[in-house]
Amino acid sequence: MKFATKAIHAGQEPDPTTGAVMTPIYQTSTYWQKSPGDHKGFEYSRGTNPTRVALEACMAALENANHGLAFSSGMGATDAVMKLLAPGDEVITGNDLYGGSYRIFTKVYAKYGIKFHFIDLSKPENILPYINDKTKLVWIETPTNPTMQIVDIEGVGKITKERNLLLAVDNTFASPYLQSPMDLGADIVMHSVTKYIAGHSDVIMGALLVNDAQLYKNLWFIYNACGATPGPQDAFLVLRGIKTLHLRMKAHCENGATVAHFLKKHPRVDKIYWPGFEDHPNHDIAKKQMRDFGGMVSFTLKDADLQDTFKVAASFKVFTLAESLGGVESLINHPVSMTHGSIPKEEREKVGVTDNLLRLSVGVEDIEDLIADLEQALK
Ligand SMILES: *Cc1c(COP(=O)(O)O)cnc(C)c1O
Repeated sequence: MKFATKAIHAGQEPDPTTGAVMTPIYQTSTYWQKSPGDHKGFEYSRGTNPTRVALEACMAALENANHGLAFSSGMGATDAVMKLLAPGDEVITGNDLYGGSYRIFTKVYAKYGIKFHFIDLSKPENILPYINDKTKLVWIETPTNPTMQIVDIEGVGKITKERNLLLAVDNTFASPYLQSPMDLGADIVMHSVTKYIAGHSDVIMGALLVNDAQLYKNLWFIYNACGATPGPQDAFLVLRGIKTLHLRMKAHCENGATVAHFLKKHPRVDKIYWPGFEDHPNHDIAKKQMRDFGGMVSFTLKDADLQDTFKVAASFKVFTLAESLGGVESLINHPVSMTHGSIPKEEREKVGVTDNLLRLSVGVEDIEDLIADLEQALK
């Protein structure tokens, strides 16, 4: 089956008791057993719930993976991957990461004796000098948040395969519609489902998708033992949102490209970060591993200090000033004071997260209204 068909049907059969076409919200914590141990495959909803199982199968299908696990947030999913590690293990990751990932690595897991190397991942071979016999995991995000750097997943995957390291890819910014890390050598795909997959800014959820049966078993153990699993209402909302993922992504990409080209020519814009431009440093890799360039566009304001940037950020009428991304509505975010506040100033400025940087999540509204809003706000 192809993408759109999977988005609408994978994991979902008409309900066996009633024929309901939409998977019901199985709002139950526990399940009847005929005699001890004799049940229909469901015992307690922390571990398994039919609404969640349907969603997990659907997300796995979209990522070309064998198994899916839904978590109560993207960070819950990341946390489960970290729990595969033991004190002394080392992780290689990028120097431009989602702020919450940087925070859990440095403030939570560093404390438990796990060592993180935050490096420039613009070339796969950059990881080589950091690999030693303690290295267990390479964690990459591409495109990166917020400066839209591109990491060559296949290139990194070749290195991790040869050395028996786990490769995890945070695929949140691309969504499964634009990029399939499993086909490029990833062992684990992680999503903040909150963003494009759910798509309507009304749910917090995360996911892990894997192929290897033993890895799935290990992660399922952590999922059930630690318990960051989402409830059936949220699983239902995502099952509903996911049915239009392909339609939304097409519109996000189209509007994103128009906004990026508009900003590139605007006299008040200095730098612009969008992987669709030919002069983007890893444009060729983006073209190779992504089906389109997505709806995320970041830019800096020319000769603007923090005050000027705040003024622009607060003068939008259609774009909403808010954290998050990937919903149908357009959002504007000031990374330094909002999503990336947990990263120290020297660290973030090294990768271009400066006071005058703004990040857009371009939604699926009429493009004329979005351009007019950018025009008036930049004035
Ligand atoms: C939002 C986000 C996360 C964290 O997900 P939550 O659902 O907010 O916990 C992780 N990675 C990226 C790239 C994100 O944008």
